[in-house]
Amino acid sequence: MLRNSLLQLSKSERVRDVIEKAPVSRSVVRRFVAGATTDEGVAAAAELDATGRCTTIDYLGEDTLDAEQAKHTKDAYVTILGALRERGLTEGGRAEVSLKLSALGQALPGDGDKIALEYAREICTLAQESGTTVTLDMEDHTTTDRTLEALRELRQDFPFVGAVLQAYLHRTEADCRDLATAGSRVRLCKGAYKEPESVAFQSGAEVDKSYVRCLKILMQGEGYPMIASHDPRLVEIAGALAAQSGRAPGSFEYQMLYGIRPEEQKRIADRGDTMRVYVPYGEQWYGYLMRRMAEKPANVAFFLRGLATK
Ligand code: FAD
Repeated sequence: MLRNSLLQLSKSERVRDVIEKAPVSRSVVRRFVAGATTDEGVAAAAELDATGRCTTIDYLGEDTLDAEQAKHTKDAYVTILGALRERGLTEGGRAEVSLKLSALGQALPGDGDKIALEYAREICTLAQESGTTVTLDMEDHTTTDRTLEALRELRQDFPFVGAVLQAYLHRTEADCRDLATAGSRVRLCKGAYKEPESVAFQSGAEVDKSYVRCLKILMQGEGYPMIASHDPRLVEIAGALAAQSGRAPGSFEYQMLYGIRPEEQKRIADRGDTMRVYVPYGEQWYGYLMRRMAEKPANVAFFLRGLATK
């Protein structure tokens, strides 16, 4: 109930405008968001890198219907990739970027798909020159086909581009089969949007079972599975499946979000497995933060306390 309300609110522009301008204590947002500027995003990546954790950097923003904003997002990625490269962080793919096609203009009327694809190409070119990779975030189910189509197109020139699949969608087992091929990077997550029964499992138990079925396909396949979950049970199952499939460390990776279970992140990196942290930065933190609150109601109290104390 609370999850659904928060996910509904995450889409409200009116509430977003009020909350983003509210005097929210910096520490509240900073628990989940690395900062507002390129320098802060790079600093967070460098700090994580120093503790043996890889990163994937996300310039916050989604669903833009403004062509200027889409270009601004593309420019922000170009700037941060340059800055990460200068610091030596992109070497060996230690710091990569995650893109939301909707933030690059996918929903613009007329040529949206084309514009987003061109911007993604520009970012991929720079990533390639910098020795790193790019992952396309997955958004709500109305965009899944278009995002997978963009993935196919981009991979023709940039085979290192990865995709995200969401275990809560009924279709995802089949998508995993399609993508479990050599060279293919697939991030498997539970899924963060409010989706109807017609397309998605609704109960936590069903989503977890689907996650394990999908994980088996990816681990037994020829691609590079990226296990994006903080769920201790799924993290353990992933380790067992990797061992069963004869996968050595480095042939798959774990991923977690900035600020969530940092001790576990370090533990996994310290034992020699690849751990990548998703690092969001930028001014437009509202939608991202609302989804994190929907995942864990305790975060709502934390957020409200921050509002009240400022
Ligand atoms: P849950 O069952 O939600 O959580 C398990 C445990 O993890 C909780 O009990 C708690 O201890 C801890 N935890 C989980 N979430 C939080 C939180 N917000 N705050 C504090 N503790 C928490 N979703 C998409 O739809 N598209 C994407 O492209 C996408 N990319 C992602 C990339 C990464 C690297 C990660 C880690 C997640 C991504 N997600 C994405 C979000 C994902 O779909 C889930 O919504 C999110 O990861 C929570 O699910 P969980 O597997 O951690 O399990």
